[in-house]
Amino acid sequence: MTDKYAVIGNPVAHSKSPLIHAEFARQTGQDISYIAVLAPPDGFRAAVLAFRDAGGRGINVTLPFKHEAWNLATAHRGYAFNAGAVNTFEFRGSEIIGHNTDGIGLVRDIKENLGCSIQGRRVLLMGAGGASYGVMEPLLREQPGEIAVANRTVDKAVTLVAYFEKFQTFALRGVTARPYAGLRGAQFDVLINATSAGLSGEMPPLPGDIFAPDALAYDMVYGRTTPFLEFARAQGARAADGIGMLVEQAAEAFFIWRSVRPQTASLIAMLRKA
Ligand code: NAP
Repeated sequence: MTDKYAVIGNPVAHSKSPLIHAEFARQTGQDISYIAVLAPPDGFRAAVLAFRDAGGRGINVTLPFKHEAWNLATAHRGYAFNAGAVNTFEFRGSEIIGHNTDGIGLVRDIKENLGCSIQGRRVLLMGAGGASYGVMEPLLREQPGEIAVANRTVDKAVTLVAYFEKFQTFALRGVTARPYAGLRGAQFDVLINATSAGLSGEMPPLPGDIFAPDALAYDMVYGRTTPFLEFARAQGARAADGIGMLVEQAAEAFFIWRSVRPQTASLIAMLRKA
């Protein structure tokens, strides 16, 4: 029998996850179906439970439901423990097991696909939503020289940093919350845009001299040239969109569900070309 999976979000029509999982299934000979489900802002829980009760085996969660997903999970595994955000559900009997594969996907893309080291480097993380929570611990485990977390609503960046300060399992050295205006005069080696600004053709207000020589500008938004990536290129930085992260986090979710690890390189190249 075909095992059913889905991605749930709002909006979700733009999601490439159905295409990616169909390709993983073809590549590995797994018998699965994978659809996109639009949940109303107040209907996430109902949509998840309806999908599970109709025989669903697992779900990917996208914006803006990753915090709500953490609360809905009955158990947390791996990076989901500390993240306070879940992007992958695995249904086992009555258990809703929450995982977070976003950080693994981001770090794998930056280090392995883009060949950019994080250790000892100055990292700027823009945004304090579900995606930022998901990537904090994996980024910290790479032992960067510093992580500055900047957000439009500064209080949310302060809350995020305070949230991770609770955990003693990894060092929280050199992590600060900043308003964008407080970045003047600072330079970073790896700049990660974890905001959804690019979806509406906007970018966080960054000073022009923020890119260190050989800096990598990474936008989690994919499938379009965002104002942040255009700005970064104009300043001489190397720019990458989030397609590699998307495929890598999906591969990790596929592995959790199916115990088979799909190949990612050819799919990333194909999606980037498209
Ligand atoms: P979210 O929880 O809705 O958070 C959105 C964040 O973006 C908030 O920090 C918000 O700031 C900020 N923001 C929105 N518009 C802005 C603007 N015009 N200027 C400055 N900041 C702005 O979303 P999320 O789940 O964290 O996801 C964020 C983005 O990452 C989404 O576009 C998502 O598609 C993408 N993503 C991609 C991947 C991938 O695999 N490539 C994985 C995860 C997420 P405020 O707090 O001030 O509102």
